[in-house]
Formats: sequence, structure tokens, C-alpha cells
Amino acid sequence: MSIHGECFCGTVRFSLDVAPKWLIRYNGPIGRKFGAFWIHSTQQRIVLECEASDTMSYSFGDRAIAYHSCILCGCTTHWEGLNEDNMDRIGVNGLLLPAEVTDPLEIRKFDGASSI
Ligand SMILES: [Zn+2]
Repeated sequence: MSIHGECFCGTVRFSLDVAPKWLIRYNGPIGRKFGAFWIHSTQQRIVLECEASDTMSYSFGDRAIAYHSCILCGCTTHWEGLNEDNMDRIGVNGLLLPAEVTDPLEIRKFDGASSI
């Protein structure tokens, strides 16, 4: 089983090998502004189907994570871990998956506001 997601213009695509159980909403300083609902996993379970040049990335603070957006349509697409401890971790914007996959899912909040 594979579930596919893509940005508005289709340049950045990804696939998951398992159905997500929930979406995660960040309330931290950058999380609220992205307006994304994330699905977290590993690089083995979520496969990106794009070139590095298809996205622009942004990091802040301890630069442990790079947040990516499509360079053409601007959709927030995914994040990737940048340091030794999280290099295999990835999050994709669940809003880029088909609505029939994500609409029934529970939305869990990640409290980044009080943990920073
Ligand atoms: Zn795009």
C-alpha cells in the first residue's frame, strides 16, 4: 500500500508506505505560521520524489530541522532532520495528501510554544 501526496503544482511529490493515524499541529513560533498538519516518520517510510533544487528550505534556532517549500507554488511540503540525532526523520504536510485520507484523521497538538 502506498499513499501519494503532492504540492499544488505537482513538482514536489512524496509517498508513504503506511496510512497515517493522525496529523500533528505545531503551536510553536514557526509551526502556527506554516499552517501545516504534519505526519512524522522516517526517511525509509516516506519517500520524496523531487530534486533538492525543487524546494527552498529554511532553518532557525539550533538548525536541527530544515523546513521545505516548493520553489514554484510555495506550498509547505516537508521538513527533514539535519543533525546526527534526527537525520533519518522526516515530516510531510498532511494537507498535501488526498482529503479522503486526511479528513477523518484526529489532529494532535504538539506543544512547541511552551517547550522552547
Ligand atoms: Zn509546487
